[in-house]
Amino acid sequence: MALKTIKLSGFKSFAKKSVIDIDTPIVAIVGPNGSGKSNTAEAFRFALGEQSIKNMRGKKGEDLIWGGSDVVPRANRASVAIHFDNSRKFLDIDYDEVIIERVVHRDGLNEYFLNGSKVRLKDIITLLAGANIGASGHHIISQGEADRILNSTPKTRKLMLEEALGLRVYQYKKIESERKLQKTRENMREVGIKQRELMPRLKFLKREVEKKEQKQILENELKNKLIEFIARERIFIKEREFEIQEALKEPTQKIEHLKKEYEQILNQDSSSEKQENSKSELLSHIEILKNDTSLLKEKIQKIIADVGKKEGMIEVIKSSNERASQNKDIFVPLPKVKKIFDSILQKLSNMAHKKGFDILEFIAGVETEITNILSELEDNFSNTDKAKNTTNTKQLSLLTQEIEDLRNLMTSLSDELQNKENEIIKATEKLHNFEKTDEKRELELLRISTKIKDQESILKDIEYERRKIDDLKSSLDEYIQYAVEFLGKEARYIDDFKPEEKNREYQSSLRQDIERLRIRLDQIGHIDDEIIDEFNAINEKIEFLNNELEDLKKSDKKLEELIISLEDELEKRFTSGIKDINNEFNNFFNVLFRGGNAELKLVKVSNKNQDEQESENEFGVEIMARLPRKKVSSLDALSGGERALVSIALIFAMSAVNPPPFIILDETDAALDEANSKRYADMVRELSKKSQLILITHNRETMSAAHNLYGITMGADGISRLLSVKLEDAYAVAK
Ligand code: ATP
Repeated sequence: MALKTIKLSGFKSFAKKSVIDIDTPIVAIVGPNGSGKSNTAEAFRFALGEQSIKNMRGKKGEDLIWGGSDVVPRANRASVAIHFDNSRKFLDIDYDEVIIERVVHRDGLNEYFLNGSKVRLKDIITLLAGANIGASGHHIISQGEADRILNSTPKTRKLMLEEALGLRVYQYKKIESERKLQKTRENMREVGIKQRELMPRLKFLKREVEKKEQKQILENELKNKLIEFIARERIFIKEREFEIQEALKEPTQKIEHLKKEYEQILNQDSSSEKQENSKSELLSHIEILKNDTSLLKEKIQKIIADVGKKEGMIEVIKSSNERASQNKDIFVPLPKVKKIFDSILQKLSNMAHKKGFDILEFIAGVETEITNILSELEDNFSNTDKAKNTTNTKQLSLLTQEIEDLRNLMTSLSDELQNKENEIIKATEKLHNFEKTDEKRELELLRISTKIKDQESILKDIEYERRKIDDLKSSLDEYIQYAVEFLGKEARYIDDFKPEEKNREYQSSLRQDIERLRIRLDQIGHIDDEIIDEFNAINEKIEFLNNELEDLKKSDKKLEELIISLEDELEKRFTSGIKDINNEFNNFFNVLFRGGNAELKLVKVSNKNQDEQESENEFGVEIMARLPRKKVSSLDALSGGERALVSIALIFAMSAVNPPPFIILDETDAALDEANSKRYADMVRELSKKSQLILITHNRETMSAAHNLYGITMGADGISRLLSVKLEDAYAVAK
């Protein structure tokens, strides 16, 4: 026997602690109306975890607590404890005695205890479901509730039958699995949402990390190229500087020499300065000489003219003398004489001015001219008288003397002239020589300065090269500066690189690569180091979510499989259970109605879901009952008593197929006539072989079936009291 006792304290009308021992197969509880019998049945429901206060005829939790009377004040809590004998381990817990206790407080708080330890309601329900007992179900039939199964919808009826068949545990498992499945799917959805939320950030971070990796590669490349470039450039500049230094030497020296040479020639110029002085002296000397010669020539001409004149006069005198001697006068008109003189003077002057003037030649010329003139005049002259000749002779000797003197003067003047002209020639030659020397020197200076210019142009080229190197140096400095920023201070001392070749094209390609890399690095920009940490963290999170999702999918699949197997199991057990119940139902029906037949039928029910669409696989149970001698099988046509009989037959059938540890029937027998009461009592006896029965009844036949009878009374204080009664007294107590 499963039930041992039930202890009530403060529960409804049981204000005081009341204990009902239920250690016999059939216990009957009897008592007058309103004494509190039904409260005991509800005490069972309460302790077993009933959540519907309505099912315990209350509106709120407080209604279950002793509400007080004129005599006894209200209680603050109600408690009901059921003691089970679990020596046969019908409850899946390792205790021989199991006490389930529920307490309700006025504030509505409920507490559950298992063997004194506080537990959750769920724990109680799970434990009891394993033994096929619960707060509701066909094993506790409250007053007036017998035909509940008849009044229920086919679907609810099916549920009741499933419970009766002990399939509740499967149902619970199924519901639990479905709940878990739902939870799993919710979790999957949440994980999916979390993943989707993280994905854009992850994608962004992935790109950033890839960029960072790319940046790392580029930086390494740049570092190598920079080091190589700087080292190469340094060596190149050093070597070029040396080359330039060397190249400078030759032209510098040459220029130096040439300048010295130039200087020397210029220094010669100081003597040439003297030369210059002498030159001008010479020039002025020549000038003076020329003046002198001109003067001399003038003097000579004058003398010549004088001589000519005097000689003319001599001739005239002579002719006059001759004419006088010959008595022949020569008359020469004066203008003609003047003309003759002018002609002579002209010719003499021409001769005197002729280059290479020769005085002797000149004199000869003068004589010839005069002779000519005289011979010309000869014809014209007449004889002169002798007196005249005498005078003339004196004049002639004077004139001759004068001519002689003049000639002597002229000779000395001519000598002087000759000397002067010789001097002029010499001075002029000297001057020419000076000029020739100047030209040579100028040419030499020009040659040297041209050479200097050539060398200077070479220097300029070298200078240009040097400037190029300077440019390279300042450019290199920029690169070094950049390298210091990029690689640190060590970059200043990059020199451990030994280039194998000095290919400038290669160097320029290195520079281009460096610039390209710098631009690309600039384009990538700065990427925080935390990006990688964040990426790893999010990646890990997503990995974790993936695993979680995998696990959830696995459990989803498992739960689906479990649900399917539970459904299969339920269906299988239900089909066979219904078959068994049908057998028993038919039997009990036959007993109670003395014939006829009854049957439970699985029917498809029209169960519209939210979308107003019929969901498949929804089944319910219909009760088919055909009373003996009646054709009608509809339950609606049955009388109240008949309905009660059908209900009892079904409840008993259900209990027979899967006997619960105990059954509480609250006045299920109320509507039975005497004959049926007897049959009912027989059925109860039969049923008690497998289940303990607690029967609340006013029926004698039923009472007679009980092994133990409790009477409940209620005094003026409104408190229900228990008393153990004998069968013979029971009926009296019941009244
Ligand atoms: P019947 O034979 O007519 O079915 P019964 O013996 O089953 O009667 P119950 O329905 O169990 O009687 O008891 C009803 C009694 O319990 C009433 O007198 C009611 O006042 C009392 N009662 C119910 N709840 C409380 C409560 N919280 N405090 C005090 N008394 C209560």
